[in-house]
Amino acid sequence: MTENTLDPADWRALRGQGHRMLDDMLDYIEHIRERPVWQPIPRQRRAAFGKPLPEAPTDLAAVHQSFMQDILPYTVGNTHPGFMGWVHGGGSPVGMLAEMLAAGLNANLGGRDQMPIEVEREVVHWVRDLFGFPESASGLFVTGTSMANFISLLVARTAVLGIGVRQEGLAAGDKRLVAYTSAGAHGCIAQAMDLSGLGAGALRVIPVDEHYAMDLAALEAAIQADRRAGLTPFFIAGTAGTVDTGAIDDLEALANIAQAQGLWFHVDGAYGALGILSPDIAPRLRGIERADSLAFDFHKWGQVPYDAGFVLIRDSALHLATFSSPASYLKRDTRGLAAGSPWPCDFGPDLSRSFRALKAWFTLKVYGTKKLGEIISRTCTLAQQMQSRIEAEPQLELLAPVSLNIVCFRYRCDNADAINTRIVSALQESGVSAPSSTLIHDQVAIRAAIVNHRTELIDIDTLLKAVIELGDQLSQAIPRSKTA
Ligand SMILES: *Cc1c(COP(=O)(O)O)cnc(C)c1O
Repeated sequence: MTENTLDPADWRALRGQGHRMLDDMLDYIEHIRERPVWQPIPRQRRAAFGKPLPEAPTDLAAVHQSFMQDILPYTVGNTHPGFMGWVHGGGSPVGMLAEMLAAGLNANLGGRDQMPIEVEREVVHWVRDLFGFPESASGLFVTGTSMANFISLLVARTAVLGIGVRQEGLAAGDKRLVAYTSAGAHGCIAQAMDLSGLGAGALRVIPVDEHYAMDLAALEAAIQADRRAGLTPFFIAGTAGTVDTGAIDDLEALANIAQAQGLWFHVDGAYGALGILSPDIAPRLRGIERADSLAFDFHKWGQVPYDAGFVLIRDSALHLATFSSPASYLKRDTRGLAAGSPWPCDFGPDLSRSFRALKAWFTLKVYGTKKLGEIISRTCTLAQQMQSRIEAEPQLELLAPVSLNIVCFRYRCDNADAINTRIVSALQESGVSAPSSTLIHDQVAIRAAIVNHRTELIDIDTLLKAVIELGDQLSQAIPRSKTA
């Protein structure tokens, strides 16, 4: 290091070290299949991370060594083709390289006149086109769909209460707002109600039908009942790809109900919305183009590295009115660095913002939407193949219809809940495969969400074979009476 800055005194040495770090990560991704999906963190490794704040410097190569030895082997494993837990994207080498470029620029995308913001605006433009939104719609990169749902709800709150709510708060109004979502919706919808001050108790959880989509008759009945009770229905959150089963609500019907009732129509498309890139799935998302707001993640099916959530709002004026603020240090101009208003910081609560747009922009440009759509289709084909194999295997049982890329099933046995819970933990610890678990009709299900572009049929077969082997072992090892 030089005496006065954080830059190296010897750039050549840093360059060499940097290339080694880059090579290590490329090696890691190239050979990811040879690694365990996940492995428990050994106790002494975890314990090594309680050290005091370092006052003195450490050589970069030594810190990198510690990364390679102590951090890299002990991640969740979502880059691995055998990872099928929750809904995690696989990332890509292109996304990784774009992240490096973005970090080099150290751009702050809150605002000001700079080309990185034009990159974000170009992606906003692409997203608008993709989802059939008007050119006047606004969009913003955010951390993830949890934040995107929250922002959407706040804009909807402005729509119904007016911008006065920003100054006076909810207490000033006399309306009791209520919102609607399905029993399959993600927990962050209730969280958004909580954070917005409307209260999670003002969210009506509508039951699902046999396809795990929102029951439309129940929704309409709930809206009527709330109106009769003097409440103000204002927001419907449909889901495009529920987290448990991948169900898609009937978005067209929800749009009709919202329109007839004068409610805001939001779509949580966290992972499913990008299914629009796949010709097989796009028709099932019909109605998404009528949403008032849409939340989704590039970091799930889009394979962009974390984090890369996105919010799209039909009425940009309302979006702006919800978040813009007149702080003098953020004063705008028509020339110089302060030009280019409105800025991204006018559309959300974040002022300092990273250049998330770059990794999405690289991913879309380098791979193209056709290829990304094929990847998405392929994960659904794999789920169908997995379903067929489960149906053909007497020891296994399918627990929910396969709607997209998520398969919920279990090993048939006595004490099935206990045994299947153990199968999932044992599988994860084996390093061979990593599904997660969920409850389907109060039954423990092994849940495989095929999101990663690297996953192949062999990974499905490996998972099913391991489930049967573990199921056989565990159901023999644990006699019925001991686990009741
Ligand atoms: C993943 C997910 C979320 C949460 O998104 P984050 O990006 O993790 O904040 C919300 N809704 C659904 C349907 C999801 O699958």
